[in-house]
Amino acid sequence: MRSVFLSAGIALGVLVRDYTSLSQLEKQYFGFPGEILMRMLKLVILPLIVSSMITGVAALDSEVSGRIGLRAVVYYLSTTIIAVILGIVLVTTIKPGVSQSADNIERAGSTPNVSTVDTLLDLNLTKDYKIVGSYSDGINVLGLIVFCVTFGLVIGKMGERGRILLEFFDALNEATMRLVQIIMCYMPVGILFLIAAKIMEVDDWEIFRKMGLYMVTVLSGLAIHSVIFLPLIYFVFVRKNPFTFTLGMAQALLTALMISSSSATLPVTFRCAEENNRIDKRITRFVLPVGATINMDGTALYEAVASIFIAQLNNYDLDAGQIVTISITATVASIGAAGVPNAGLVTMVIVLTAVGLPASDVTLIVAVDWLLDRFRTMINVLGDAYGAGIVQKLSKRELERMDLISDVDAANPF
Ligand code: ASP
Repeated sequence: MRSVFLSAGIALGVLVRDYTSLSQLEKQYFGFPGEILMRMLKLVILPLIVSSMITGVAALDSEVSGRIGLRAVVYYLSTTIIAVILGIVLVTTIKPGVSQSADNIERAGSTPNVSTVDTLLDLNLTKDYKIVGSYSDGINVLGLIVFCVTFGLVIGKMGERGRILLEFFDALNEATMRLVQIIMCYMPVGILFLIAAKIMEVDDWEIFRKMGLYMVTVLSGLAIHSVIFLPLIYFVFVRKNPFTFTLGMAQALLTALMISSSSATLPVTFRCAEENNRIDKRITRFVLPVGATINMDGTALYEAVASIFIAQLNNYDLDAGQIVTISITATVASIGAAGVPNAGLVTMVIVLTAVGLPASDVTLIVAVDWLLDRFRTMINVLGDAYGAGIVQKLSKRELERMDLISDVDAANPF
């Protein structure tokens, strides 16, 4: 159903672009219904992350949450590294940048600088003495997660008095999910205008020809990772059909494709994981928000391919040490990237600087990023969902033990 709105959005965008001449202001009005959708989704991110993480962590005892957290982190890191290696193998085999001349590609503008230190500092909430900035500044999600995990652990240890807070955040979570349901009704209309407005902006299709091979490299990497590697890992651990699982996530994947933001897709990811794939809320509440922020297989693969592509364009020969540096920094850069549109492009500065390529060369690939971003976001979301499925399977014993304890508590309230 949503793909009908996607096609309609593309057709509408092409029609309006080719047969009308709208002023800048009129274009803004045209994109307004799409912008509303983005704003509504961004609005629920904060209460959703706070309520789901705090209740998620507080509901588990610290030993169990530590073990679940460890499993999640091992999964995040290993799949991200697999994605990076896959990207490197493809880009060094296909060599999309070698046959092209760097002079053919326009260079313009400059990119914001984000260092690894900035990323690490973002874990620290006290920088501006606030957990979140104004919504227009964006949310420091990494910092927020650190806060929520700590706060959840403290509440979990507070006994009866902590339960009041736990109930409050639980109710907040339910209210937010109801809000999400309302937003979902508006989603098709918002998506139609979001896509149409984007298509209207594209006037230099020539750039696609120049960057074709580079895009094919990134897209085939993403396809192999999502159709072969992730499903295989899921099957090895869970022993269930991975494609049925992917199908259950379809709505979230399509949303990620439309809006290029794992964080903004989070409400839909929760719904699909819990309702369609029946993943325990105690797992999703913990694994999905963290995954949406630090587990980005698609972004990591893309950063590895893009930086080697830029090196190839510059006729720059990378030695084995530099390839290893790219693998490590691409992993770090994907962890540091926020789940918002084009974040991967910004953190790529880390990778380029690490191997001595000019950071401003990010501008070489800006023109096609709006499209690649959509696909890598989709893979980021899929990776998070598979992660939740696998962690649930591996944590089965702990979850059953907790169920047993709560049954005993309910039977003996005093
Ligand atoms: N847009 C991606 C996401 O939200 C991040 C990126 O730019 O790679 O997951």
